[in-house]
Amino acid sequence: MTRVSDGAGAQPILATIDAGGTTFKCGLFQEGRGIIASARIPTTRPDETLKGCLKFFRDQAEKGIKPGAMGIASFGPLDVDPNSDSYGTILAGPKSLWAGTNLKVYFETAMSIPVAVDTDVNGALLAELKWGAAQGSDSAAYVTIGTGIGAGLYCNGDLIGKPSHPEFGHIQVKRHEADKDFKGLCSIHGDCLEGLASANALTERFGNPIELPEDHMGWEAEAYYLAQACIALSLALRPERIVLGGGLMLAPHLIGKVREQYKNLANNYLGQSEADIADLIVTPGLGDDAGLLGGAYLAGTIS
Ligand code: ZN
Repeated sequence: MTRVSDGAGAQPILATIDAGGTTFKCGLFQEGRGIIASARIPTTRPDETLKGCLKFFRDQAEKGIKPGAMGIASFGPLDVDPNSDSYGTILAGPKSLWAGTNLKVYFETAMSIPVAVDTDVNGALLAELKWGAAQGSDSAAYVTIGTGIGAGLYCNGDLIGKPSHPEFGHIQVKRHEADKDFKGLCSIHGDCLEGLASANALTERFGNPIELPEDHMGWEAEAYYLAQACIALSLALRPERIVLGGGLMLAPHLIGKVREQYKNLANNYLGQSEADIADLIVTPGLGDDAGLLGGAYLAGTIS
């Protein structure tokens, strides 16, 4: 069981990796001090990227910063079952070069420390529960909207989906009236949530999101899909917090648009006021560090 606890006591140094589709962020963490060293390694071929990560940890070890355990919060699909022979292995998915790569075995062998692996979103969710926007919640969801879409779900004291993990990014959503022609980018389903609302999908039909004006209908469609995702989460789980993270949520106006669409679509079915919705649907409290801190949290569970 993955209980989020205070973890008081000794303060070991922990290694963490936020293994993302475009960057592997490596870090060393100590409770009370936070991230004490970090580096970014581009996600290319597995051998090249993992060697880059290893170099960072070896350089730090030479300076005397030696971790006792490592946690990896990784993109998926991923085997996250500690009882499985292939625990820690990236499975067949969109990043085909990485299929079959066992992150746990690689770093355990190279660094001789125990390694825990979970999904990037489960890691970020655990970190947000302990240190961030979902602190004090008994149930919460973390949804990342980046090159893909994924979610970690936490309810009644544990992550949901064990010994596998949710694939929430692939739920079906209703099409926005002004967005019916786009086929969607998901290689499996076409126009699932990820196929329509990932950063890549938005870029594909409307251009670079950074250059997209705030009042562009692309943002309205995006918010419409994300609001449906939040409604599905509310109806199924009644979480206290839905944390929306990932690169696309860096657009500061998007969270407000999602809340507005949520209010319209929910049609007061759950009796939520605007203030309730603003309290429910939030951006990460840990910003860009959620993944790294998630890895640190995972490392803490085995150190
Ligand atoms: Zn899909």
